[in-house]
Amino acid sequence: MKEYLKYNYFHVGAACFRCTLIATVFCLVSSAYGFKLQDTLTQGSLVVGHIAPGLKLEFMGRKIRVDDNGLYVFGLGRNAPPEITLTTSSTLGDKQKNYIFPVLQRKYKEEQVFGVPQKTVTPPIGALNRIRKEAAEVRLARSKDTKILDFLSGFRMPLEGRITGVYGSRRVYNGSSGNPHYGLDIAAPVGANVYAPAPGIVELVHHDMFYSGGTLIINHGYGVSSTFIHLSEVLLSVGQRVKKGDLIAKVGATGRATGPHLDWRINWFEVRLDPELVLKRLPSADD
Ligand SMILES: [Zn+2]
Repeated sequence: MKEYLKYNYFHVGAACFRCTLIATVFCLVSSAYGFKLQDTLTQGSLVVGHIAPGLKLEFMGRKIRVDDNGLYVFGLGRNAPPEITLTTSSTLGDKQKNYIFPVLQRKYKEEQVFGVPQKTVTPPIGALNRIRKEAAEVRLARSKDTKILDFLSGFRMPLEGRITGVYGSRRVYNGSSGNPHYGLDIAAPVGANVYAPAPGIVELVHHDMFYSGGTLIINHGYGVSSTFIHLSEVLLSVGQRVKKGDLIAKVGATGRATGPHLDWRINWFEVRLDPELVLKRLPSADD
């Protein structure tokens, strides 16, 4: 059974009045299943919510972990479609119900980047195996589905500085168009301190990846991870537990970088999210 939920069906509750864009207000309560979605659905955003404990949840046909209290998390990628489907079902898998939600489509800007090492724009044939191997290591680190709730403590900036690159922009490197940019770039000198934006477990430490140079991945639980790249130094080892605000690394200009800066990325498994939207959605409770 399909149920289309359009804007005019939304219950506009007290919590919704702070939302400014009518098109992105979602306050939905389905009495039949207790299904609730109070996030702004935007490309690049992290969605955190609760459903009635005991229900199963699928996002676009993909099973999502729901904890004993009904907590679930999923992420919307840079090119998430204009509509997504969430499916709830009872523990026995019956009484399936589909909900369709609109997703705000963003416009991304184009950024010309000159002065990156040419070998990283058109990598030499000999580097392809290395690039593939490193990509697989990163994929594996981001695929961990760990039952820790560290992301719920909220995020803070890992470093203060001028923002020089944003999520989603189309990048043109030395005149040739490359992949979009997924990180938040923060300018800082080589050796500047980088602090843990949220608690977590260290999943990957690599001192020299082809594209990303010194690389660190911290797992915040439920598929949410932070990646820090172009580092000159990583001060942690795999398996280590970090607290929010711990000194974790030093800024560098390693890999495909034009100058010293921190590039911070947030993922939900393989889905790349916008760190600025995550900071807004889950601000640090103790700031
Ligand atoms: Zn960057």
